[in-house]
Amino acid sequence: MTQALPAHTRRELEDTLRARYAQLREEVSRELLDQDQYDYSDVAGKVHDPGDESVADLISDLELAAIDRNVSEIRAIETALDHLADGTYGLCVDCGDTIAVERLKAYPTASRCIRCQERYEKDHGGAPPKL
Ligand SMILES: [Zn+2]
Repeated sequence: MTQALPAHTRRELEDTLRARYAQLREEVSRELLDQDQYDYSDVAGKVHDPGDESVADLISDLELAAIDRNVSEIRAIETALDHLADGTYGLCVDCGDTIAVERLKAYPTASRCIRCQERYEKDHGGAPPKL
């Protein structure tokens, strides 16, 4: 089996991924817990302007968006760890070329080489994903 990366680099990136994974898991469970404990009716009760209940909605939306981002990153890390396990980590999912080590060190969840990533972003428009 061809490995895209030397063993020590793989090990290093795996450590980074696992540490980040643990951190994100903790953040998400804390955010979910916070949300549970937060009394939104309290916020709405302190302000008297009609329509202020939407403040609680907004807070809720913002927190959900943060959780959502974290969950996407958790998924990306799980994928990267799978690829580490099956030996395809560091290979571009589009062209099969090796992804530059510098890129992997900056974005350990990168699944495309820089060339394919740029093409992907052009095809799909919008902001470039950092992962
Ligand atoms: Zn590629």
